[in-house]
Amino acid sequence: MNQTDTDWRTLLGKHWSLASDWRTLAGEFDLNFSDGEVIYKVMRADCPRDIVDLQIACLTHLAKYDIAVPRLIPTLAGEPLIEVADGSSTHLCWAISRLPGTVLADTQPLAQTLIEEIATALAALHTALADFDHPALARTMRWDSREALNVRDDATALSSHPLAETLHAIFANLTAPALESLQALPTQAIHNDLNEHNLFCHVLPNTAPQLAGIIDFGDMIAAPRVMDIANAAAYLMLQTDQPITTLNHFVAAYAVACPLNEAEVSLVWPLALTRMAVSAVHAHESAAGGDDDPYLQTSQAAVSRFLADYAATNTDFVEAGLRQATGLAPRHQTTRDWIVTHGHTAAPLFDRSLVDAPQLDLHIAGVDMPDNPIAPDLAQVAQRVAALDPDSTRGVLGRYREARLIYGADFFLAGDHQASTRRTFHIAIDVFLPAGTPVRAPLDSVVHSAEVCDREFDYGGLIVLKHTPADGVTFYTLYGHLQHNSAATLEVGQSIKRGEVFAHLGAEHENGGWPPHIHFQVGLTDAPGSDWPGVVEPEHLEAWLDVFPDPAPLLSLQPGSVSGREIAPADTEQRRHRHSPPNLRTSYDTPLQVVRGWRNLLFDECGRTYLDAYNNVPHVGHSHPRIRRAVDQQLRLLNTNTRYLQPIHAAYSEALVARMPESLSVCFLLSSGSEANELALRLARHATGSKETIALRAGYHGHTVTTIDISDYKFSGPGGDGQAEWVHIVDNPDTFRAGEDKDGAAFAAQIGDIVHTLEESGRKPGCFIAETFPSVGGQIVPPSDYLQHAYRHVREAGGVCIADEVQTGLGRLGEYFWGFEHQGVVPDIVVLGKPMGNGYPLAAVITTPDIAERFDSGMEFFATFGGASVACAAGLEVLRIIDDERLADNAAAVGGYLLNGLRSLSQRWPLLADVRGMGLFIGVEIADASRRPLPEETNYIVNRLRDHRVLIGSDGPDHNVLKIRPPLTFSREDADHLLTILDRVLAEAALAHCC
Ligand code: PMP
Repeated sequence: MNQTDTDWRTLLGKHWSLASDWRTLAGEFDLNFSDGEVIYKVMRADCPRDIVDLQIACLTHLAKYDIAVPRLIPTLAGEPLIEVADGSSTHLCWAISRLPGTVLADTQPLAQTLIEEIATALAALHTALADFDHPALARTMRWDSREALNVRDDATALSSHPLAETLHAIFANLTAPALESLQALPTQAIHNDLNEHNLFCHVLPNTAPQLAGIIDFGDMIAAPRVMDIANAAAYLMLQTDQPITTLNHFVAAYAVACPLNEAEVSLVWPLALTRMAVSAVHAHESAAGGDDDPYLQTSQAAVSRFLADYAATNTDFVEAGLRQATGLAPRHQTTRDWIVTHGHTAAPLFDRSLVDAPQLDLHIAGVDMPDNPIAPDLAQVAQRVAALDPDSTRGVLGRYREARLIYGADFFLAGDHQASTRRTFHIAIDVFLPAGTPVRAPLDSVVHSAEVCDREFDYGGLIVLKHTPADGVTFYTLYGHLQHNSAATLEVGQSIKRGEVFAHLGAEHENGGWPPHIHFQVGLTDAPGSDWPGVVEPEHLEAWLDVFPDPAPLLSLQPGSVSGREIAPADTEQRRHRHSPPNLRTSYDTPLQVVRGWRNLLFDECGRTYLDAYNNVPHVGHSHPRIRRAVDQQLRLLNTNTRYLQPIHAAYSEALVARMPESLSVCFLLSSGSEANELALRLARHATGSKETIALRAGYHGHTVTTIDISDYKFSGPGGDGQAEWVHIVDNPDTFRAGEDKDGAAFAAQIGDIVHTLEESGRKPGCFIAETFPSVGGQIVPPSDYLQHAYRHVREAGGVCIADEVQTGLGRLGEYFWGFEHQGVVPDIVVLGKPMGNGYPLAAVITTPDIAERFDSGMEFFATFGGASVACAAGLEVLRIIDDERLADNAAAVGGYLLNGLRSLSQRWPLLADVRGMGLFIGVEIADASRRPLPEETNYIVNRLRDHRVLIGSDGPDHNVLKIRPPLTFSREDADHLLTILDRVLAEAALAHCC
């Protein structure tokens, strides 16, 4: 174009009243300007008039509907369109209103709610366009999927595309019947280019973006609606790492507004792949022609990744999911019914009945599940099989539809993407029998595929038989872990008679190390055996179950009688509510049900893996086998109380006190932190004769009457009774809030003031109680001299000092085994709890002989569970593991690494206003530039991390501190994973207002 942008402004200014905020916008072929509210479009010189006219007519038509699309802005003279000369050429110019918001491409994440809004908007658009017509809609273009085969045939460079084979397969899927069924669908005006740059979103603080509207009607054609649905779904799938879920959500929401028929539903997936294939061909040809438009190449990277990962996805499975999403009945119902009603007429696979065969419980929470879910010891499975069927006469069954944890060990740390797609549900029945057991065909069969399956491990011979036992009934049966020879001697297409022996069970080495068994699966798909997943992701279980129904009837077993247990969270929640107090809360907006733990991992009922960066009770890691053994051993011997002499009680008290400064040599054992703090307060009152208690603001010491009285977090919070007159609260030694130059002496001065006031009124302090590093108070690391000054004030006035080390003790701080060591003080009373028994209830009060003696007023001290044998066994083993596994050193090293990583993140994300901590006691203050706390943002971050399967908490007086205090087994890889996910969450649109 000859005109400069300024010339255009002058020219357009003659026809529209322009606002001052004039900008040039990006455009592929045309010039686009904006003055804030309005976009002015100067079309390329050769732009056909009817295409502009089509868009104008469409927007005029849509203006009658409540649909968020741009409105046409006529000229001052009321014209929709003008022609402007530019040298020898003329340009069509027109104007539309500008939609608010940001393009979808820049608004991560693509939340389910947004996907549904887009689908609903598309359905509304289709409804509104049903009676819209225009001559230009009848044009042919390469972005019309009905032309895809021509695109393929015209593409000169397709064979040099790195994914040429995949692309050819996608085009080949557009078979004549598929194209015919597409051609047979009614046509209407469709948008035809609903990509991530043509969707606008409102970016809202602390919540998912919402749809603001749809733009760019320049590619409209008349075509079946399903093409629009498939194209939009294709682009949306490129925006997520859960594309099949995205597809199902999108199509489901569309179908709620505009129901889809069978033909449409079965075309969605092939057409979505076609749109991506056409786009790949187009980009490849452009690049070959010298056009290396970075935008095109970036979007192509996503297309190529998607096609490489998903183009070969089983289409029966995708269609099953879409049918469920749109409320259509599953396909192959006749076959399904036949299997249920006639399955028992099949010949037995083995020369024995399986009716009484015992079942293995390999569910995540099952008794037969090996201890270590990361590297399962298959010898344990073999032992269980042998225990259930010692003479190998009955056979042992493994369950269908069972969530297991035994597949794929490297499932977690490479990124949440892998965690979320981990396969856990077993969708076959296993029959464990001796190697070499002959297998008979259940029905007349044709060999469909016969392979040897040895991807990573040797899984032996794999055979699929095809059966057509009745009119309209066709299905397949798969047999895995056979002898190699069984597969090698069969020919595809070969017939096998009902009851004929066609294979033999493989040995252990043909079972990937498992005890010999057959994996028996029934399929309604004609994929070859190597493409049958034997285990599937929980997200898509229901769709896979439609493709791979319950094989039990074909083994003459009742349907559902060999199926894994289900532990639906909704059911657990309902039952919990029925019998629990209303203020018994769960964490997170969507409560999490967990059924197993291991080291730093927690697993939900489907085997989804969560990184536990929050729980400090499983100090040496969840389900530590040594703890289990120690508890088990002691339980077998004896579990009784301190009224008897017991070596284990003496040994544990000794071991615990050995870790303390010399003066603290008397140990009371109890079973909870609250109970221990109660006792500590009693000790202090006996020792000093005073009840006056000084405690920290936002402190928490327990849930009993007296501990609530001294816990500002509770008595000043919702439902609290307020401060008792014998309780005196001082500020937390929080340098972030108070200013870095405030030292320990300055913070402790408040205690001096209280002591002074008490003395003036003839009283004296009984005790000062503080968490050494306040946790509920916001994961605070006090100045290193704080307690020295605090204790001095208290002791000078005759009070005693209690250190609540419930959260900080036992090596969590890395460098210091106890928090008070960091402060260079020795408390008079130390309270321990949470981590002591790694989950076995155990707490302690440790004090001086002098204080213990003054407590001995004649009244017996006795707590039934305090110091009981099993608790002591657990506690002793915890201390040993901390040493043996050098967990305090690990806390120092990994904690330091994580703190560094968080500090680097805070450079990039200013809302991480303060990163603090020591070892694996870490807090991140979420605040704005003026240190104003941001509790809603904090809550958003914690919940989004949970969505990404990383568990942390939040705390602090203003609920704006991310709380990170994992089991001490936390590794550098765990820290990296946490940092990666946190970084991703911080980049989400919902937090953009903080950047
Ligand atoms: N003190 C502190 C510092 C705590 O964090 C807790 C528990 N959160 C307690 C005492 C009370 O312990 P418990 O819940 O075992 O009674």
